[in-house]
Amino acid sequence: EQAQLTRLRRQPTRTQDGVDIRLYANAESREDVAEAHSLGADGIGLYRTEFLFLQRRELPTEDEQFLAYRDLVLGMAGRVVTIRTLDLGADKADHSGLALRTEPNPALGLRGVRLSLAHEALFLTQLRAILRASAYGPVRILVPMICCREEMQAVIALLEAARASLLAESAPTGPFVELGAMIEVPAAALGLPDFIDLVDFVSVGTNDLVQYLLAVDRNHESLASLYTPRHPAMLRLLAEVFSYGRRNGIPVAVCGEMAGEAANVPLLLALGLRDFSLHPSTLLEVRRAIRDADHASLRRRAQSLLRAHDRLAIEKWLAR
Ligand code: PEP
Ligand code: MG
Repeated sequence: EQAQLTRLRRQPTRTQDGVDIRLYANAESREDVAEAHSLGADGIGLYRTEFLFLQRRELPTEDEQFLAYRDLVLGMAGRVVTIRTLDLGADKADHSGLALRTEPNPALGLRGVRLSLAHEALFLTQLRAILRASAYGPVRILVPMICCREEMQAVIALLEAARASLLAESAPTGPFVELGAMIEVPAAALGLPDFIDLVDFVSVGTNDLVQYLLAVDRNHESLASLYTPRHPAMLRLLAEVFSYGRRNGIPVAVCGEMAGEAANVPLLLALGLRDFSLHPSTLLEVRRAIRDADHASLRRRAQSLLRAHDRLAIEKWLAR
C-alpha cells in the first residue's frame, strides 16, 4: 500500500482518459516545501505567511521576509510559488506585534486583506519582500478574504507603489508577478464577474467559504457535522466559479481542505476543477484518486450531482 503510493511520486497526475490535472502544494514550513518538491508537486499553491508573524513581539522586517520567500522560491527550483499575503485577524494576533484589539466576531472582523489595507506600511513591506523574491523564480501573489472590487483595486495600487519604490532603488525583481484573489467570502464567489478583469488567477478557500456560506464556525465542536462542503448550495457555487473562470481564461484552484481529501476528487473533477492545492501529506493519495478517475464520465454526471437536494444524495452520487 505505502510502497504503491511511493511509486506515484514520479507519475503524472493524469486521469484514465488522459486529462492532466495540476497538483500544487500548501506549505508553511521549509519541510513542507522540501516534501512538495520531492513529491513532484506542480508548484506551491498556497504559502501561508502568518507563521512569520506569530510567536514574537516585533513584526518581521522586509529583509527577514525577503530571505524566507527567496528560500521558498529557490526550494521549488523553477516551479511557481503562490505567496499569500498576511491573513491575520483578532483570533490569532496576540503575539504578532500588531496590538490588535479583541473583537466579538473575529471571523467577521478586521482580518486578511482588510487588516493589510488598514496597515499600509506593513502591507507595503510584505509586497516589497515578495517582489524582491520574484527575482529568483516564478512567483504569484494571492490575496486572502477579498470581498469586493474596491479591495482588489486598492491592492493593485499598493503593488504598483511597491514596484515603483523598488525600481527607484534599482532593486531586482522578476519580470511579471501574477496577482490572484482567494475566493472564500460568498460575495466574492457570486461577484467574480465584477472583478475578474483585475486578477490573473483565483483560488477557492473552501475552509472559510463553507464557514461563511453555511454560517457555521469552522472551529465549533458541536457543529462539526454541519461543517461540510457536501452541501448542495456549496457544490452549485463551486460549479459556477469553476465554469466562470474557465470561460474567461482565468485558472481556478481549490486550496481549502476539501481538495486534500481523496474522497472529494470525483466531486471536484465532475464540477470542473483542474487545479488542486493541498498539504503534501495527502498529495499522493489525491494523485492516485485522480489517476483512477475517468474525467469525461464524471463531467457527464455533473448535472445529476447538481440536482442533489441533500448530503445523502451527494454521498449516493459518490458511491455510484
Ligand atoms: C481556506 O479558507 O480555505 C484557506 C485555504 O485559508 P485558511 O485555511 O488559511 O483560512
Ligand atoms: Mg481562509
